[in-house]
Amino acid sequence: MKKAFERREFLKGGLATLGLGVLAGPSESLAQANVQDRVQRYVPLGRTGMRISDISFGSSQTTDPAVVRHAFEQGVNYFDTAEGYNEGLSEEAIGQALSGSRDQIYLASKVKCMPETTQSELMKSLEGSLSRLRTDYVDVYFNHAVNSVDRLKNDEWYEFVSKAKAQGKLRFTGMSGHSGRLGECLEYVITHDAVDVVLVSYNYGQDPGFLKSLMKDFDLISVQPNLLQQLAKAHEKGIGVIAMKTLRGARRHDIAAFEKPGLTFPQAAFSWVLSNPNVDGLIVSMKSPEQVDEYLEASGSRTPRGAALPLLHQYLASEQSDYCNHGCEICHDSCPNGVAINEVLRTRMYATHYGNLDYARKDYARLESGASACSSCSHQSCLGQCPSGLSVAQLTRSAHKMLS
Ligand code: SF4
Ligand code: SF4
Repeated sequence: MKKAFERREFLKGGLATLGLGVLAGPSESLAQANVQDRVQRYVPLGRTGMRISDISFGSSQTTDPAVVRHAFEQGVNYFDTAEGYNEGLSEEAIGQALSGSRDQIYLASKVKCMPETTQSELMKSLEGSLSRLRTDYVDVYFNHAVNSVDRLKNDEWYEFVSKAKAQGKLRFTGMSGHSGRLGECLEYVITHDAVDVVLVSYNYGQDPGFLKSLMKDFDLISVQPNLLQQLAKAHEKGIGVIAMKTLRGARRHDIAAFEKPGLTFPQAAFSWVLSNPNVDGLIVSMKSPEQVDEYLEASGSRTPRGAALPLLHQYLASEQSDYCNHGCEICHDSCPNGVAINEVLRTRMYATHYGNLDYARKDYARLESGASACSSCSHQSCLGQCPSGLSVAQLTRSAHKMLS
């Protein structure tokens, strides 16, 4: 009965997109395509008129069209990618898998618009993405991994968006972010109504309420005290909110012994994220058909599942000395050599937690400021600056050695 109701809701959403004054997204045929789907809920994405699968496809760790296709066949209808993921191969995999199903899916891609990027460069990037995705338009185009407000003030971006919309090449815009400056960047786009969608790192370890429940056991602090209010403000204004980095690193081998059938660590983490009414949905990197199936088991969650909280507590405990919080910049000014500590440790995570050394190395190479200075740093003024107790110098040095 519940499923039938949600199917009707979903059908309504698909039809609603046809009424938009811009390019229409998936239509009624989407609802008919995936009869056996595992997706239990399709959610409105802010004011866009889109209704996306609550657990959607992230492609940063995927270049296999078969995995993309499997997710689609299970009911996933929102596919997130970027020109920078695996040098365009992730976009190509999505294009190869779904080009015949364009009217049944939503596509989002990303480009890094820097303060000096020109509109012609942006247009060239978008056209490259469209070609690899084998489509004429993307539904959402993000300014990727924004880590300073300056990147949101480039007039060229807005000129480009206006032209690309007029040419039918994109429908909506967004900002993605997970750096230490995420808070100010979010504040800027929400206050200025500068985007239609935000894609932000958000997990249980960023919630002051969740951390407070652990205070007796661990020395934890909330590094983004305003994040929950910002998500609520975005939601209230009709800006779509999509969460990423919801697994907080996902080092599964540390937690496997505590998982149970029906409640794996990702399922617990997803159910926690989706319980926030100001979060529309989440994306997660899906690397195999088995992983797709496991992740989608948590679709439809509106409250943290059964024993989710103890499992998440357990994971947080195992991670405490190793995980650099997304959106944290507390130690940022402690390095006189300008090492972007949070960014360096995020790329390290792709190797140590995701197990993807190749991706981590490429991402590290793209950083504006790596950790080469750490190898010969004698003062180590970053030591003792992390309230989570991370041995910053040790971690950044090993990151540089491993990734450079
Ligand atoms: S070890 Fe030195 S160079 Fe490296 S982050 Fe710490 S203070 Fe900066
Ligand atoms: S090392 Fe610690 S203080 Fe520095 S960004 Fe990471 S979590 Fe924050």
